[in-house]
Amino acid sequence: MAIDLASIAVLGALQAGLLAIVLLVATRSYAGVAKASLRIRGWALLFEAAGWWLLGLRGVLGDWWSIVLANGLVLLSYALTVRALRMLLGAPSRQSIVLLVSAVCWLIIVWYAMVEPNYRVRVLWASLPIAVDVTFLIKPLRHCLRKRGSNAERVMLGVLAISAGLLAWRIVDLLFGRAPPGGLLDRTLVNTIYMMLTAMQPTFTSIGFLLMYNEAMQADLKRVARIDPLTGVNNRLALAEKASSLLDRSRQTGRPFAALMLDADHFKRINDRFGHDGGDKVLLTLVDSIRASLGRRDVIGRVGGEEFVVLSPDASLGEALVLGERIRLAVENAQLWIEGEVQSLTVSIGVTVSQPEDNETEAILRRADIALYAAKRAGRNRVMSAEMHHEHMGSTSDSLIGQLMP
Ligand code: GH3
Ligand code: MG
Ligand code: MG
Repeated sequence: MAIDLASIAVLGALQAGLLAIVLLVATRSYAGVAKASLRIRGWALLFEAAGWWLLGLRGVLGDWWSIVLANGLVLLSYALTVRALRMLLGAPSRQSIVLLVSAVCWLIIVWYAMVEPNYRVRVLWASLPIAVDVTFLIKPLRHCLRKRGSNAERVMLGVLAISAGLLAWRIVDLLFGRAPPGGLLDRTLVNTIYMMLTAMQPTFTSIGFLLMYNEAMQADLKRVARIDPLTGVNNRLALAEKASSLLDRSRQTGRPFAALMLDADHFKRINDRFGHDGGDKVLLTLVDSIRASLGRRDVIGRVGGEEFVVLSPDASLGEALVLGERIRLAVENAQLWIEGEVQSLTVSIGVTVSQPEDNETEAILRRADIALYAAKRAGRNRVMSAEMHHEHMGSTSDSLIGQLMP
């Protein structure tokens, strides 16, 4: 089979060029870091296409075009791809070192093309930046693969592993074999495989990029779907998931977790006085006060207008009541400046801990809610628990259970 390597190079270039246009046009409606990354990859593909086109025209165009400019464009496209992929993986770009290595090696290639023409030395110097690029990509890819285990990262790692293997083969062949007199377009075995895979590489890496973009967007959507837009804390869905995983964990460890249900006292008055926007600002301050009182592993979520839930892992009832009291005091003592006036705000808190017989999180949250209702009835600005005939703060000493189950 007579394979014409120049045609493969030109076909590969055509394919890379078309993919570049698809990426640049398709990403116009995309958003965020993933969009920037895909656009850089689009430009990299355009440079790659131009570079391979020129390489394929060796013998037709002069060496300035088909060696000097062609190698420069291909090396630039690989350096940009490193930047784009590292961006998508959330790793620092390392752009200056990658570009510097490429630029220095390119200048050496120029020397061995124009001043002291030597194909073997040229390929060796062209391999160095490619090896650096591959190294800069494999590390963050492996790191993310260990963390998330995504298929897109597997595809990318596969392409890179093949490129690295091929590069090594090419170097060994050049060092110990006979350098082809016609250079890259001579039909040696290694050149043929190298050109074929290089021509297909833009397709595979573009699929990898798009898959990774898709996964990044899905992760973003998942995160946004679990955040309360006003306060930035967990929403109901996220809280339900966290409570459920805490319940599973507590079944394994035998240690309970605590649920605290909080509701701002007389919040309607704040809204009536300062309007809904003023009320929203107060809610943000309230969240700040609650957050400042939480431990590192405690989780806060908003379940209603001015109702919040705090989940505290591995907490006994005593520890949960102490946490509740810390929150209550922090809110009471917070300086709330609205329209130049200091306002006071208090919260009532219902506390409960998970019991061995609890099969679902709803039952636990319901208990906390009942305790909250009791705290409201007992006069507000207090912490009450569902389990004990206990009131942690305030003057009433009625038994909560007595109040709830007369
Ligand atoms: P209580 O002490 O019994 O809790 O009295 P309250 O006035 O706080 O009454 P309740 O908890 O039943 O009502 C909460 C009020 O919070 C009702 C509504 O006007 C207000 N609210 C609900 N969601 C929002 C919101 O997102 N922003 C603002 N500013 N106000 C809200
Ligand atoms: Mg309220
Ligand atoms: Mg309420």
